[in-house]
Amino acid sequence: MKKIIITIDGYSSCGKSTLARQLARELDYIYIDSGAMYRAITFYFIQNRVDWSDTAAVKAALENIHLEFEYNPETSQSDIYLNGENIEHLIREMLVAEKVSEVAAIREVREFAVAQQQKMGEKKGIVMDGRDIGTTVFPHAELKIFMTADTAVRVERRFRELYAKNKHITLQEVKENLELRDYIDSNREISPLRRADDAIILDNSELSMDDQLRLALQWVEDVMIVQPS
Ligand code: C5P
Repeated sequence: MKKIIITIDGYSSCGKSTLARQLARELDYIYIDSGAMYRAITFYFIQNRVDWSDTAAVKAALENIHLEFEYNPETSQSDIYLNGENIEHLIREMLVAEKVSEVAAIREVREFAVAQQQKMGEKKGIVMDGRDIGTTVFPHAELKIFMTADTAVRVERRFRELYAKNKHITLQEVKENLELRDYIDSNREISPLRRADDAIILDNSELSMDDQLRLALQWVEDVMIVQPS
């Protein structure tokens, strides 16, 4: 069957990666978490004390960054590797979350990440989630989904996720981080977060995971019908 590109964009903690994973599993597609790439770059910058206000320093640092995704059979998910090291758990830390939107707003960082993302989609059969996937990375994707959910629902979801790993985290901290990231992501100069004109909106505030998967699979089917084989 013909393979397509599916993009999922939206605000932080809308459940984009959950839906992307579900779809990839159902369709036997590759899932790419583009946010993990920005988080990995941010992790590298923090770890190596890169001054990201200095363009020359950013360019030099990017030359030393090699990112890869590798399937982890234990979790049935792909982990991100930075220069050969699995840093999947490290990039989810608050320290990275606090800085990632700043780093992701840098032109050179975006060019670096987008070029790799586009390469990953050359053979299609891919679901990628992020902020600019339907607008910049794959503007000609066959199916674009833009996810939203009530802020309170998003905060609660992310809080539960983070609290499971770190009992010191507070709801207020999580709320502030989500709001700050959404603000920076939506207002940056390069590829700001916005819905592509041809993206379908999916508000999952009150949808179960099964419901959202069913809906999205229906959209895939609709797209397939009109695709030339
Ligand atoms: O998806 P996740 O929340 O892990 O993304 C972390 C951050 O990476 C976002 O807040 C955003 O600043 C940045 N990002 C981006 N473009 C993407 C994916 C993520 O700018 N395509």
